[in-house]
Amino acid sequence: MICSDVSNQIAAFLDGELPSDAKEAIQNHLRNCPQCQAEYESLKRTSNLVKQLPAIQPSANWNIAFQNKLAASQYKQLAEDFKRLRELAEELTARLAQFEQLELNQNAEQDLMTVEEVAAYLRASPEKIYEMLDELPYIDLNYELRFRKSSIDQWLRSREVLPSEGLFPWSRWISGSGHSSH
Ligand SMILES: [Zn+2]
Repeated sequence: MICSDVSNQIAAFLDGELPSDAKEAIQNHLRNCPQCQAEYESLKRTSNLVKQLPAIQPSANWNIAFQNKLAASQYKQLAEDFKRLRELAEELTARLAQFEQLELNQNAEQDLMTVEEVAAYLRASPEKIYEMLDELPYIDLNYELRFRKSSIDQWLRSREVLPSEGLFPWSRWISGSGHSSH
């Protein structure tokens, strides 16, 4: 008997399916051939391991049940993600509205002022503003007055007396206040 014959019949030998003469021939070969002996030992170990495994008898729909479970958990995760996304979207919408309102307020604040607001801005009384209507740039909204801040600022710049053009030496008075007369 040669090694390839043994190799071909080793599984049947291991399972005890061989007739006694073939069985004996293999046993003789194994005793004298370390290579086939090693192959036989290896196969025996594997066979024993397989036999030791708990006999799992998966139900016919085991795979489907597992997939359904997986799908359910994935769906749950997806639903949670969507919920979180919707919350985020709502939060963003609310913040955007807040921001737009803020911008509106800011624009309103910056662009158009009422008599009271321009009075406060110029640190003057509303009466003073009414007095200066022939000077101040204003918008007549059907007897309601509005002032554009940019126009008021422009007007302020034109009214501003710079030190070199000053009619009175205010700056010198202020800086010279340190050495007053004795
Ligand atoms: Zn051999």
